[in-house]
Amino acid sequence: MSGVELLCAHQNEGITCNEAKFTCTGCRLVHYCRPKCQQDHWAKHKANCKSPYMKKSWKPLWYVQGRDAAFEDQGFLNLEVKYLWGNTPAIDILVLEKHEDVSNNKDLHILFAASSDIRNLRMTIASLPIEYRQTVNITANDLDTNVTARNVILLLIAFAVEEPGEAVDCKLHVWFAAQLTRSHFELLDSKIRPLNQEALIQSPYNRIHTWNFGNHSVWLTLTQSAWSSMLDRLQVPDGLTSSKARNVRGKIARAESRVDYLDRGLFDLPPAHRMGLLKYRNDSIILPFDHPRSEFIIPNLARYRSLFADALRCWAHKNVLSTSSGLASNDLYGKLCYHVKDVLRRFVAAYLR
Ligand SMILES: [Zn+2]
Ligand SMILES: [Zn+2]
Repeated sequence: MSGVELLCAHQNEGITCNEAKFTCTGCRLVHYCRPKCQQDHWAKHKANCKSPYMKKSWKPLWYVQGRDAAFEDQGFLNLEVKYLWGNTPAIDILVLEKHEDVSNNKDLHILFAASSDIRNLRMTIASLPIEYRQTVNITANDLDTNVTARNVILLLIAFAVEEPGEAVDCKLHVWFAAQLTRSHFELLDSKIRPLNQEALIQSPYNRIHTWNFGNHSVWLTLTQSAWSSMLDRLQVPDGLTSSKARNVRGKIARAESRVDYLDRGLFDLPPAHRMGLLKYRNDSIILPFDHPRSEFIIPNLARYRSLFADALRCWAHKNVLSTSSGLASNDLYGKLCYHVKDVLRRFVAAYLR
């Protein structure tokens, strides 16, 4: 599949590598460019490749200890957790080719009432037939300021960042990652924050603002506090360092009370997929298993409060599984990364045509 980046896992250690050519046949989670890289990387990779979770015989801790699982007496939902993304897969709400005569050339008016996360909006626009060239008017609203601010920031990235590849990468990580790279943050700072400030200056009383981008407009109305809250999502508060943010996440992730919840998620997965979930759980970044994370050092305030939502639940499992992750065919979150990027790429292509 185009777009798959075949990086040698050993190059994370600062080694100069060529394009990767084969995978570790023990786990099919990582790529290598040459046997020497695989040998030299083994000391590190062994912990993943030979992990107890990689064994079919792995059992959740509550089963091993012969006790009731913690979630059994606490109900299915922990209402303290904020689900910014929801937990149902994205759908194309129109399926236009099936339901309408596309050659009819009518404009579309779509309402996403109480939209929550706008993945359905993205999937719908990304799925418009290539020959459809009419105007699309979309209205979306939501009561939750956290959700609305995120949605607006993500939409503005689509329109304000000119280079499509850069926009797709930035949207993916602002949407889902716990930490951003410096270049993502600079894009937010240079492209999105001025748009927010412009709105606060130009529309201080009526709380309504319109941004125009060529043939496209984004019209937004928010309460005054919500406008400020949106600005808060674009800056890191004084004192919130990368390591502090990691520690907060780590502390909660490693809490004894959460072990059974994690084991429940792991139990249903094939062994190698468990390793992807564990890695995602550790850093909350959607990337192929062997891609470096060292540049993700700035806390992402656009998703900071959603500590343990699993991005995998937002996308149809069969579509994720059928996406190529190169030769590392067990790399579940690598597949997710390429699948979401493909939807975002089609979304960008739809509004560019
Ligand atoms: Zn290499
Ligand atoms: Zn391996």
